[in-house]
Amino acid sequence: MNPLKQQLKSRTISRQAGDWYLSCSYEWNTITTPKKTDVIGVDLGLKTLATLSDGQVFESVKSYQRFEAKLSRMQYLNRHKEIGSANWKKAQLKIASLHRKVANIRKDTLHKLTTYLAKNHGTVVIEDLNVSGMLANHKLAKSIADQGFYEFRRQLGYKCQWYGSQLVVVDRFFPSSKTCSNCGHIQDMPLNLRTYDCPECGLSIDRDLNASINLRNAVGLTVNACG
Ligand SMILES: [Zn+2]
Repeated sequence: MNPLKQQLKSRTISRQAGDWYLSCSYEWNTITTPKKTDVIGVDLGLKTLATLSDGQVFESVKSYQRFEAKLSRMQYLNRHKEIGSANWKKAQLKIASLHRKVANIRKDTLHKLTTYLAKNHGTVVIEDLNVSGMLANHKLAKSIADQGFYEFRRQLGYKCQWYGSQLVVVDRFFPSSKTCSNCGHIQDMPLNLRTYDCPECGLSIDRDLNASINLRNAVGLTVNACG
């Protein structure tokens, strides 16, 4: 059963790429759910969608990559059709439908993750990603768009409000990847290094897990708490 009290506000029926959608909007009242863990750190990645400080990993869907070849082939086959013709319309509808499928898969993955985080943890700590800096790198930009980092942050924000948990956003200059989560030693961590090996205390730990633990531990030092 849904732990939230809700009240139906409105219903909207819309049509997208030939399919009908019924959307209902609700008014929510926050109800605090019992929390499994007090504080959880979340490291968002490109290879994996998210690594949590308790060791859980959420794999990314890579929805675009899976359907991209299919999409570009459909667009290529459609290039000589007369714009507005029946065949052109039919093909456009198919392309739109594939786009929608990709968007839905992505949204669904993010919803599962953000609901899980907000519902089961008293405080969720994430990093304020330097998205504009990362977008300058085209390869990264595509991955970021694919992972939906903006959407992740947005969903987590309102869900933390729903479930009565706190969202803490750590400044992007916080060295979550470079710091040893055991002893605090700081070293450079180029992107290709997947394991953090600490020369000071001997800790050897997955790079993303190390970062998520640092985020969890950063709660005392943080800026910009919202939610
Ligand atoms: Zn160390």
